[in-house]
Amino acid sequence: MNWIDTHTHTYDPAEGQPKAQALVEKALEAGVYKQILGGVDLHSVAPIMELCRAFPGTVYPTIGLHPTEVRQDYMQALDLLYRHLDADAAQEGNTPYVAVGEIGIDLYQDKTFFHQQQDAFRTQLRWAKERRLPVVLHVRNAFEEAWHILKEEQDGSLRGVFHCYSGSVEQSARVLDLGFLFGIGGVLTFKNAGLPEVVRNVPLDSLVLETDAPWLSPVPFRGKPNDSSTIPIIGHKLADILGITPQEAARATTANALRLFGL
Ligand SMILES: [Zn+2]
Repeated sequence: MNWIDTHTHTYDPAEGQPKAQALVEKALEAGVYKQILGGVDLHSVAPIMELCRAFPGTVYPTIGLHPTEVRQDYMQALDLLYRHLDADAAQEGNTPYVAVGEIGIDLYQDKTFFHQQQDAFRTQLRWAKERRLPVVLHVRNAFEEAWHILKEEQDGSLRGVFHCYSGSVEQSARVLDLGFLFGIGGVLTFKNAGLPEVVRNVPLDSLVLETDAPWLSPVPFRGKPNDSSTIPIIGHKLADILGITPQEAARATTANALRLFGL
């Protein structure tokens, strides 16, 4: 079976974890044949590109300013990231980035820069439209706020995925209405999570798998550092919930990821 991890931070292993390249090899052995690395800020660009160059056709980069990295100086940060988007494209002959992300709104711990977060989000959505790239969304405790901006910016060309989707069934209908997909990770294996109800109520072609490694390890590894080799555990859980075979879950989620990111 061929699986894809659509969201991982393998380039930045947790303390005590093997090095990034060893983690990619481990995932390959587990049947996870492609991984998409989530960019979070300017500092993540170099380690992401280094890992992508070591595994061409296997590991792919995204670029963006994560909402929790948006601060007073966000305009300068955006300017530098945008220059990377241009310069790296010129160097590689074509953009190496498969998405703009992680971008979005996060009001979980800190609302100080809410207005800046909104502006940074909108700016980066426009980069994606201009470059015809999908977006990887990080939305936490801010579904309404993010949805409002997406609705305004959706001109028919915006595509993307709600990474680590944590919304309700009602909200998931609005995600589908926007034409977006759901990133499903280790949370699916947690007790008391509402996610099984969501995945049962949306089409299989709207689901992609992700780890968000080194975070969110699925049961039975919950609390330990995660890596992309746990994708089949999440895939098997999805198959269980939907009453389909793991092969069908792999085939569908892989096809959805290939289509979304144009791999
Ligand atoms: Zn992430």
